[in-house]
Amino acid sequence: MGAKSKVLIIGGTGYLGKRLVKASLEQGHETYVLQRPEIGVDVEKIQMLLSFKKQGARLVIGSFNDHRSLVEALKQVDVVICAVSGVHIRSHQILLQLKLVDAIKEAGNIKRFLPSEFGTDPARMADAIEPGRVTFDDKMVVRKAIEDAGIPFTYVSANCFAGYMVGGLCQPGHILPAWESVTLYGDGNKKSIFVDEDDIAAYTIRTIDDPRTLNKTLYLRPPANILSQRELVEFWEKLIGKQLQKSSLSEQEFLNIMKEQGYAEQVGMTHYYHVFYHGCLTNFEINNEEEEASVLYPDIKYIKMEDYLKQYI
Ligand code: NDP
Repeated sequence: MGAKSKVLIIGGTGYLGKRLVKASLEQGHETYVLQRPEIGVDVEKIQMLLSFKKQGARLVIGSFNDHRSLVEALKQVDVVICAVSGVHIRSHQILLQLKLVDAIKEAGNIKRFLPSEFGTDPARMADAIEPGRVTFDDKMVVRKAIEDAGIPFTYVSANCFAGYMVGGLCQPGHILPAWESVTLYGDGNKKSIFVDEDDIAAYTIRTIDDPRTLNKTLYLRPPANILSQRELVEFWEKLIGKQLQKSSLSEQEFLNIMKEQGYAEQVGMTHYYHVFYHGCLTNFEINNEEEEASVLYPDIKYIKMEDYLKQYI
């Protein structure tokens, strides 16, 4: 392997983006972060960007509304990682990346592009239900544009962000664990996969110069974190030294509740539905055309969810 690639991170002030910036600097990459003029007087973002600069990152001014600025930013680097928003309860801007694909085509120097994915593999979600399938559909539109343009890529399928899922013991609308009662999806035994967001960032950065993941999907499946909702609840019960009261929600009851929510909540609940009733993260084997992160990078000491939960005590 030659010198470490120069990396441009887009969406660097985001929930995942800021961790990608940190991991890229920690792993010794020359790290560039897009600074969008549209952030205006958002002082939190400006302060975060300045703190990246203090840690050694270079800020590059550029906008999705200014093709030339994107091309100029891209010309300074080898690899682009995009972490624009894609969670409806916050913001969903996945299709903006089509403009980035156009700019990458024109720049002509990008050795690898990692689009904003970092979740369920959209290629396996062709049968997903409405309205949450929009996330998968939009990510597939971006994939098609990348592949049609012949841009080298890696897709990172990160499974469940721990902060969203583990904190709330997998219950939508909760990001802190319950102390009294919990609702299980059916019997609560479908296996899911949970990954700490800093570990997602560390694996993502490790892969950018790795020829084994070129033009492939990288799945994050840390073995100790392949767990059911019930197993997570049991870890929590052990930590707090008491049993939670448990109730169970059937698939149909869940869908009925979902229909009463607003659009953004329904999108999120669709994802919970596929993960916890259908086991969509674990109901397939990784094939020869794909890779798994904990196998490729066994030296990354990932956080186990039984330890992750300790922060909530
Ligand atoms: P955020 O909501 O934190 O947003 C990320 C960044 O997107 C923002 O900080 C901003 O970056 C940029 N952005 C937002 N709106 C706009 C806009 N209108 N125009 C241009 N840029 C904009 O994103 P997340 O970190 O939550 O999501 C990143 C990825 O991770 C998504 O693909 C999402 O689907 C996935 N995800 C997966 C989860 C899982 O459990 N698997 C959970 C959460 C997210 P800046 O201002 O710095 O340019």
